[in-house]
Amino acid sequence: MNPFLTSKVKERSGGRIVYLGFCAFMELIIIMAIINLLIDENWGAALLALLFVLGFARPIVREIIKEKDFKNAKAIASYLNGIPSESIKMAQINQKIPINDPVKQIDRLLKKEYLMNIHLDWEKDLVVLLALGSSNRYVEISCPNCGAKTVILQGRVKNCEYCGGTLLGKKSE
Ligand SMILES: [Zn+2]
Repeated sequence: MNPFLTSKVKERSGGRIVYLGFCAFMELIIIMAIINLLIDENWGAALLALLFVLGFARPIVREIIKEKDFKNAKAIASYLNGIPSESIKMAQINQKIPINDPVKQIDRLLKKEYLMNIHLDWEKDLVVLLALGSSNRYVEISCPNCGAKTVILQGRVKNCEYCGGTLLGKKSE
C-alpha cells in the first residue's frame, strides 16, 4: 500500500461498471427517442427527454473526472514514494511528474482526500512528506559510511547529506 494514497483511491467495482453501462445505454435510447420526437416536431416532449439525457450524463461525467483524479493521484503517490528524502522542491516535481501542473493537482487531491501524508509549504516552495502512519516518526541514525548523525523517518530511505551514502530509517537502536 502506498503511504500517500488514501483508501478512497481504489480500483473500480464491477457494480459501478454495470451502473455506468446502464446510464450509457439509457443515453442512447433517449437520444434516439429525441430524434424521433424532433422528426414528429413534438418540441415539448423532445425538451423533456433532453433533461433525461442530462440526468444520465451526470454520473458518467463524474466517473470520468474521478477516474482521471485516481490516475493522477496514483502517479503522484508512486513518484513521491520513491523519493529518498522528506521533502522535494516544487519546481522539481513539476518537471518529474508527467501530468499537468502536479503541485496544483496535489493541492486539489489532498482536499479531495485522495492523497495524504503530504504537506505543501508554499513559503519554501517545498512538498513535504509527512510521517507515514502513527507508528512512524523521526529517528536519529549515524551514517554507516561517514558516521555523520542525521534524522530520518522510520522506514524511509534517503541519501546522507555529507557523503551521499544510502541511509535506512531503521528503528532506533
Ligand atoms: Zn555519510
